[in-house]
Amino acid sequence: MALIVQKFGGTSVGSVERIQAVAEKVKAFCNKGNQVVVVVSAMSGETNRLVSLATEIDDQASAREMDVLLTTGEQVTIALLSMALEKTGIPARSYTGGQVRVLTDDVHGKARIREIDHEKIKADLDSGRVVVVAGFQGVNEKGDITTLGRGGSDTSAVALAAVLKADECQIFTDVDGVYTTDPRVEEKARRMSRITFEEMLEMASLGSKVLQIRSVEFAGKYNVPLRVLSSFKDGPGTLISVEEGDEMERPVISGVAFTRDEAKVIVRGVPDIPGAAYKILGPIGEANIEVDMIVQNIGEDKTTDFTFTVHRNEFSKAQNILRDIAKELGAKEVIGDTDIAKVSLVGVGMRSHAGIASQMFGALAADGINIQMIGTSEIKISVVIDEKYLELAVRSLHAAFELDKPPTK
Ligand code: ADP
Ligand code: ASP
Ligand code: MG
Repeated sequence: MALIVQKFGGTSVGSVERIQAVAEKVKAFCNKGNQVVVVVSAMSGETNRLVSLATEIDDQASAREMDVLLTTGEQVTIALLSMALEKTGIPARSYTGGQVRVLTDDVHGKARIREIDHEKIKADLDSGRVVVVAGFQGVNEKGDITTLGRGGSDTSAVALAAVLKADECQIFTDVDGVYTTDPRVEEKARRMSRITFEEMLEMASLGSKVLQIRSVEFAGKYNVPLRVLSSFKDGPGTLISVEEGDEMERPVISGVAFTRDEAKVIVRGVPDIPGAAYKILGPIGEANIEVDMIVQNIGEDKTTDFTFTVHRNEFSKAQNILRDIAKELGAKEVIGDTDIAKVSLVGVGMRSHAGIASQMFGALAADGINIQMIGTSEIKISVVIDEKYLELAVRSLHAAFELDKPPTK
């Protein structure tokens, strides 16, 4: 008998019929003698709908109230799925994050899980019930409802799998696995049968939203075998795990990730003096704004243009903070650009291969795509480009590195 955590995303529970289909799937699994904990998202589009309702009242609404609002989406699906399970003859019980006691920190909107009290879940499982838990939500020490960031149900599922020491955490979604790039952008994208935690973490953090980053972090840290599968068709999906010694040779590049979520902030004409970067980025950090890529170059007039990227949601906040600081520093002006996209090549095989960057830049040049910023690490190369070339760039890189073909031994 295995204990499995199964997570169903928004599209998979997008209608009553789909919820009933999920119930059938879970039932089949239980009937094989497995214990199942199900984590669900809100019905597709629901979280966005709730966000727009709030925005109509106040686009700066308090993060605490946003969390109270957004968690209602998942509360609907846990109840409906439990009803559907019971209707098929499978005893089930639903719980909100607060009821299970998914204890988080206080950071509304992007809370981190601290601990999960799994006693209640264990007791239900042992008495033969399926336990249905609302994803994306928790509760802080004060008892206030928190959320884990968009896409956070993945993290709820992996965290539950970790504390329950589940045999596998299965993420059911609208694609049948992790692909070399988003199959919605490149139809030649290929499903990978396996990917390492390290590569998946990089893909997720560079924009492949098939899994929330924190879920991959968690799975890697607690060594939870994680599998991405389709809710709509059977198949082996993609297993995310630590690499095994005798596996076939790793491909040099495993995938192309991209994001439209960033914006570029440029502080022009910054005097070239020690401490300037600190004066610019210090207050940005204090405001809890994450900075991604940074570029600085000195012009002939001995001033620098200091450019960095932040999440688009935090772009105006970052610009406002910097206006006064730019004056204090004697910089010329603060400007920005939201029409950018970041495209990245990811692969652990890059460590031992030279020339990947030049091949990448060559492919982009051949399609007339201008590179605005470059960032590298051991296992990725990212470029910032004009957003309008995003899809072209993804396809061009996918072809240049022959990602549609299975890696050779
Ligand atoms: P869910 O609602 O089930 O959580 P998501 O929309 O969050 O589903 O994630 C699934 C989507 O992720 C897919 O529909 C696909 O468009 C997108 N995606 C982005 N990059 C990839 C990738 N490399 N492989 C597979 N899917 C990807
Ligand atoms: N419903 C939440 C969202 O849309 C969480 C999730 O689906 O994982 O972001
Ligand atoms: Mg998701």
